[in-house]
Amino acid sequence: MVGVPVRLRDDLAALPTYVAGRTVPGAVKLASNEMPLPPLPAVLDAVDRAAQAGNRYPDIAVTTLTARLAEHHGVDPARIAVGCGSVALCGQLVQALCAPGDEVVFAWRSFEAYPIVALAGHARAVRVPLTPGHVHDLDAMADAVTERTRLVFVCNPNNPTGTAVDEDALRTFLARIPDDVLVVLDEAYREFVSDPAVPDGLALAAELDNVCVLRTFSKAHRLAGLRVGYAVAPPELAAALRGVAVPFAVSAVAQAAALAALDHLDELHADCAGAVTEVARMTSELRSLGYEVPPSQSNFVWLPLGERAAEFAEHALENKVVVRAFAGDGVRVSAGTAEEVDLFLAAAGSFPR
Ligand code: PMP
Repeated sequence: MVGVPVRLRDDLAALPTYVAGRTVPGAVKLASNEMPLPPLPAVLDAVDRAAQAGNRYPDIAVTTLTARLAEHHGVDPARIAVGCGSVALCGQLVQALCAPGDEVVFAWRSFEAYPIVALAGHARAVRVPLTPGHVHDLDAMADAVTERTRLVFVCNPNNPTGTAVDEDALRTFLARIPDDVLVVLDEAYREFVSDPAVPDGLALAAELDNVCVLRTFSKAHRLAGLRVGYAVAPPELAAALRGVAVPFAVSAVAQAAALAALDHLDELHADCAGAVTEVARMTSELRSLGYEVPPSQSNFVWLPLGERAAEFAEHALENKVVVRAFAGDGVRVSAGTAEEVDLFLAAAGSFPR
């Protein structure tokens, strides 16, 4: 085809690409922090029933799920905004808060969507390096806040390092952040936290008007494919998040599945404990093999292998395990079943070092 190409934004060239974990036939996937278990049967029944509604749009206001989440967390429904995965809400936060050139501060390395949503939303992405221990450097993050900062993401526990900040550190940090700057506590992995020193962001959000919490149904609730997440935020912000959402972004099937999952939290949480056990086993066995493994409060571990990250992932794949390499930095490995973890540990043990 000949002609003048359509004019894209000049700054899109700087947009990083989100690299999703690969699915390789015949290999175990430990690359996307999903639980190694399918949705619960009761959830699949709810999905079937919702799918029967067929050619009807979903409830645009996500009324029932919003009410259920509000009841579950003991907050006003006006404080809840449900989205098409919490990653969509990350984008909505930038749209709701940032004018062109405003700044979004976050740790690096952290969730790879943060720079994408910041830049796509015409904001500037301000990356603050993790400490040498692979933890958020909250002092440096507070130092990075300027007049132009509208939003700070704190991923707790952090993806991909698994590390978490404790309540004292977080409170000291929050006290340094101006009241008109929003702190987003991204708690996608909250259900895997076992250290009581790691705060529940919802308690902080109940106290402070500039704190918002993101949660997802993609991890503990095993609905990664159905795309549901939510924010608990001050009412004006929750309304703004709903306001900038793509209409009907949360499908009827996703709404029904999330509601059904909320009916079975005990069972889901018991399985999360299984993932936590596997993470502990991976951590201690990898350390005894000589790997550095930061303490994880999530359902994955981080291997800071630097320049050898890609090579390690290739070796794992040759041994039928897909892990997630961040080139030049490290490798993230999600907890699978005990058998899957055995397969991975054997691969880690045979990696030439
Ligand atoms: N936040 C973090 C820290 C994540 O790791 C993820 C998923 N990888 C998300 C948000 C997005 O989750 P979802 O969009 O599936 O709800």
